[in-house]
Amino acid sequence: MAQLSPLLKQATPVVVDHGEGAYLYDVEGNRHLDFTAGIGVTSTGHCHPKVVAAAQEQIGKLIHGQYTTVMHQPLLKLVERLGDVLPTGLDSLFFANSGSEAVEAALRLSRQATGRPNVIVFQGGFHGRTVATATMTTSGTRFSAGISPLMGGVHVAPFPYAYRYGWDEQTATKFCLRELDYLFATVSAPNETAAFFVEPVLGEGGYVPANAEFLRGLRERADEHGILLVFDEIQTGFGRTGKFWGHDHFGVRPDVVTIAKGLASGFPLSGIAASKELMAKAFPGSQGGTYGGNAVSCAAALATLDVIEEEGLVENAAARGRQLLEGARLVGDKTPEIGDVRGLGLLVGSEFTTADGKPDNATAQAAQQEAARRGLLMLTCGAHMNVVRMIPPLVVTAEQIDEALAIWSETVSAVTK
Ligand code: PMP
Repeated sequence: MAQLSPLLKQATPVVVDHGEGAYLYDVEGNRHLDFTAGIGVTSTGHCHPKVVAAAQEQIGKLIHGQYTTVMHQPLLKLVERLGDVLPTGLDSLFFANSGSEAVEAALRLSRQATGRPNVIVFQGGFHGRTVATATMTTSGTRFSAGISPLMGGVHVAPFPYAYRYGWDEQTATKFCLRELDYLFATVSAPNETAAFFVEPVLGEGGYVPANAEFLRGLRERADEHGILLVFDEIQTGFGRTGKFWGHDHFGVRPDVVTIAKGLASGFPLSGIAASKELMAKAFPGSQGGTYGGNAVSCAAALATLDVIEEEGLVENAAARGRQLLEGARLVGDKTPEIGDVRGLGLLVGSEFTTADGKPDNATAQAAQQEAARRGLLMLTCGAHMNVVRMIPPLVVTAEQIDEALAIWSETVSAVTK
């Protein structure tokens, strides 16, 4: 009998039958409050009626219009619609299927446009699981284990993860920017550096928001040396952080953004946006894939953007995010095993640490499992998988946040007593 490969490590034993809004229903009829949202994907909730209707209508018309062969309307409409929400000046788009492919596209663009070999990524960043993007990923050793030789030309600079350093944010930021300058002087000269790739909030790396001073420091260095600043907004885009883009919190302009996840409510769709001038420097025909910019995915993305706007989901993410962070902090305050609670919008992480300040993977895993038994689905993240993270859909209500926090509080008491 065939079986599912053990390559997949499933965080819960749940087998889902269907989903609706913030809930998943398993094959035995149990209801689960889904604070994973398919790893930040189903932002409009599971099976939002408008997204379902748009996808169903498109399926009846055209499923696959291969975009290097023929162009199709949903993609053209999506380009126009994204024009309303993209950061100023980023007016040229390319589409693929997954986040990893979008990062690869940004990597190719950066190297082709600058003629430089190196990219600088930041400690704890996650950019994907293809060999190139796994090379750029430093949020844990497992992503590049056993696949060497990795891609050349990737250098890692520190990210201001103040809690881990045991410093205040300003000290951590100053240290990181000094180290970046040292990296320039030692291993990747600025004129050999094509791009910085950075997440506005470290996602898989532990839900650590960047800060304005740090990102301004990157922008200044990018401007001085002709380096491209790429914001990986795959997890932070489309309202997730309580502003439309994660980087909107910091007032720093990117040269390229990568997009995926929340873009199409669960249909595979990703992309990059850059200025027309920059995009013109990439080699035409060097990118693209069979399924990129799928017609049904584009129709779902158009509906997703409408829902985000009509239902005020960015504002909801901001308000519900504050409620969630506050509630999680109250739980953290009464729990010595939780060393830090942080986040931005509806990305909230609780970091478990031992009494001597070491990452506590065991308690974090126990909490995630226990919460799942009590009907609250969450994931862990961080290099040691010791951060329990909450990523509800952006349609989450105040009552559902309260429901989750009540389960979380009981769960934490149960696993730490
Ligand atoms: N970049 C970021 C910031 C991500 O969070 C992810 C997915 N967790 C990726 C890239 C990779 O996306 P995918 O899994 O769709 O390849």
